[in-house]
Amino acid sequence: MTQSYVYRFGGADSEGNAAMKNLLGGKGANLAEMSSLGIPVPAGFTITTEVCTRYYEQGAYPTGLDAQVDKGIAHIEKIMGATFGSTENPLLISVRSGARVSMPGMMDTVLNLGLNDITVEGLISSGGDKRFAYDSYRRFVQMYGDVVLEVRAQSKTDHDPFEEVMDEVKAKKGVTEDLDLGWEDLKELVARYKTLIKTRTGKPFPEDPREQLWGAVGAVFSSWMTDRAIAYRKMNNIPGDWGTAVNVQAMVYGNMGSDCATGVGFTRDSATGENRKNGEYLVNAQGEDVVAGIRTPLQITLADSRSTAANANISEEMRREKFASLEEAMPDNFAELMAIYDRLEDHYGDMQDVEFTIQKGKLWMLQTRTGKRTGFAACRIAVDMVEEGRIDSSEALRRVEPEQLNQLLRPVFDPEAKKTALIEHRNLARGLPAGPGAATGKIVFHAEDAEEWVARGKGPVILVRIETSPEDIRGMDAADGILTKLGGMTSHAALVARQMGKVCVAGCGALEIDYKAGTLTSGGMVLNEGDWLSLDGFVGEVLAGRVETRPSEVLQVLFDGAAASDDSVYTYYNKLMTWADEVRTLEIRTNADQPDQAEQARAFGAKGIGLCRTEHMFFGEDRITAVRQMILSDSREERQVALDKLLPMQRADFEGIFTAMDGYPVTIRTLDPPLHEFLPHGDEAVEALAVELGADAQKLKDKAESLHEFNPMLGHRGCRLGITYPEITTMQARAIFEAAVAVAKKGVDVQPEIMIPLVGHVKELAIQKALVVAAADKVFAETGTKVDYLLGTMIELPRAALTADEIATEAQFFSFGTNDLTQTAMGLSRDDSGRFLPDYLEQNIYAADPFQSLDISGVGQLVKIAVDKGRATRPDIKLGICGEHGGDPASITFFHQVGLRYVSCSPPRVPIARLAAARAALD
Ligand code: PEP
Ligand code: MG
Repeated sequence: MTQSYVYRFGGADSEGNAAMKNLLGGKGANLAEMSSLGIPVPAGFTITTEVCTRYYEQGAYPTGLDAQVDKGIAHIEKIMGATFGSTENPLLISVRSGARVSMPGMMDTVLNLGLNDITVEGLISSGGDKRFAYDSYRRFVQMYGDVVLEVRAQSKTDHDPFEEVMDEVKAKKGVTEDLDLGWEDLKELVARYKTLIKTRTGKPFPEDPREQLWGAVGAVFSSWMTDRAIAYRKMNNIPGDWGTAVNVQAMVYGNMGSDCATGVGFTRDSATGENRKNGEYLVNAQGEDVVAGIRTPLQITLADSRSTAANANISEEMRREKFASLEEAMPDNFAELMAIYDRLEDHYGDMQDVEFTIQKGKLWMLQTRTGKRTGFAACRIAVDMVEEGRIDSSEALRRVEPEQLNQLLRPVFDPEAKKTALIEHRNLARGLPAGPGAATGKIVFHAEDAEEWVARGKGPVILVRIETSPEDIRGMDAADGILTKLGGMTSHAALVARQMGKVCVAGCGALEIDYKAGTLTSGGMVLNEGDWLSLDGFVGEVLAGRVETRPSEVLQVLFDGAAASDDSVYTYYNKLMTWADEVRTLEIRTNADQPDQAEQARAFGAKGIGLCRTEHMFFGEDRITAVRQMILSDSREERQVALDKLLPMQRADFEGIFTAMDGYPVTIRTLDPPLHEFLPHGDEAVEALAVELGADAQKLKDKAESLHEFNPMLGHRGCRLGITYPEITTMQARAIFEAAVAVAKKGVDVQPEIMIPLVGHVKELAIQKALVVAAADKVFAETGTKVDYLLGTMIELPRAALTADEIATEAQFFSFGTNDLTQTAMGLSRDDSGRFLPDYLEQNIYAADPFQSLDISGVGQLVKIAVDKGRATRPDIKLGICGEHGGDPASITFFHQVGLRYVSCSPPRVPIARLAAARAALD
């Protein structure tokens, strides 16, 4: 049997379904599914992603593809009652990309394909009016010229060549709007566009519809490998070998007159998650007009239309006349559309993002897909859908990406600061609340500048554009906020910003943006590049100057005890987190060195400290001198004098931490970094220290120099310090136990776990352990109080992992130090790899930065070996991880799979880890 490369949809004999996304792409699979639901879909076919993959592997299409495409065309012709290339009733088609997951605006589309000098006449004779026919034709030639033949602006400052020709024709005619051009002008444009194409490419515009079709198919496949598509995939972890499908579909027209329209919509609010149907549309327009932000679209529902008008101070009379909703303008189509919204949501069980066209009073659905949403919306929709009985709580957990929770924790404007800004009349304008959150930063007008300013530490920046395009995504990623003059809630800027979790205000028509002058003007106020600007993405407000931000609602409830209403962000967050806690088996701890961090982490749901880096306590103003004295001492006795000064300070630190973590384990690690990290830098600082310590400056300099190491990360650090200077370990152990006894006496449930870093050989651990046990026994004898404790080690060197069975004879627990384990296993410097790792990611050598997401196939093996060997010696050994990977969802899944008991991460990542751990347990 020959392999199928082409799958039909529309009509009764649709061949695919929603489950076939890998092969048909998201769009193709859903078009097939909609056809089988009996929803009106223009007929078409999908060329599979396999063809794309083959095209890149072998540089050619598979044999037999052309015959299958011909059959596909025949299918469309039959259903739509039109013929491709016909002089009487020509079939026109669209050619679009459709990857497995949607990549908004990243790849190419060609519309109105099939037009030429002959078929355009056929279009007219089959009932289309002349202006419409020539307008479709000129749009087609322009789009084909740009997308397929690559006739386009050659630099950032260059104008679009087609737009230039258009401007000439308009100037000649004395008009400013495209709509004022008559069919003769459009016909002239077609001819001039073709001349432009001939001049630029050296070849005539292809008149043959089949040649046009293959050109467009090739362009869509090629667009899979453009820089912007590659960059998008990298940001969203989409593998390059998935490929894209191509959807070929009969055109339907929203621009054939005033009984036509086109629009996009969401079955729920994609920004807040509220259960309210919404969308935007334009009368007498093509779909691209809505998404590209050329005209600011109207609201589908009456309620949204009224609230948008109220925001813009538009009277009800004016609104009805100029900005009427679809609900008012085309009530029957509106009712049918709302019924389809319900049907689709019921069928898919999730919020849908749809595109539709109304052609001469008939509604056609062009697309449905799972709607992209903000973290706020993801959380609320998931929780609501459980309460509506559509999904269960496990599915709700699968629907929220752990990283999305970041948005819920993001700052909002400080209300007082915002009030002040309003009193000072710094409110420049109001646009659409396209990406929630509050952002303040310096104005930049170009995406490249956004990237560069942030890279050079000149941020934060707000990217201000008339509209954004896919080329801008890296700059959008770098910016804290995005502001556009044109475009609606579904414009490129809005979609991409929401997905990135960026603050965005779109469609702010009152702004005048002058790229050349580098100015932003509104209401008589002129702002320049580099001036501060603030965006309130919750309401769409644009404010001049810097407006202070403050913690998110969730943080206000968690930390400040603010009240939470039933539909507040906190309430949804809390419900989701409760479900997560019910299913996860991994415990979540935090890395914290101070009582305030510990308290914050507890509010976020941490149940214990997995890593307290004691060295962070050494840097305090009141103790660094004593630390330096300790380091620079020549004899044990001298060193002991300094340690005696440090002991009470460390004890106080630990008392604070133990108290903040009452009832939970606290892992305290003995000193880890090389000593010279604590020394003053530069002669002046050394001299000042000499005065402070009453020591000889030259002697201090010599000593400091003698501590220099060529490779400090592999040098005198970790337990090696305690081997050379046992009195340091003894002092720290004493401080820990004295603190533990002191707080225990006050009724605190204290559970200390003492951890020795950078152990490579079991003997190192045995020696350190003896010191700790001796200190504990002494303190318990002196105070007459005993506190239970554990003693363990970090596993952060390959040798430790490989000899974990030996090490486990001395260790009650292992905590994986995946930062150092990554560094030492991969031979990658934690401090220097930033210089070349980007190239590694660029060339796909590693899929992700191994310091952020664990290299599971390499470093992960060491973790697995150590787990198995540790358990072989000591079946009840407690296992955890405290490297940065403890807050990374992909790594957490792995840690769950190898059976660790807990992960420990920074306080703000605790909610993310809770959700990631729950999802890992569900998998
Ligand atoms: C580690 O190495 O993973 C670790 C947690 O310790 P540090 O980052 O302090 O070296
Ligand atoms: Mg380490």
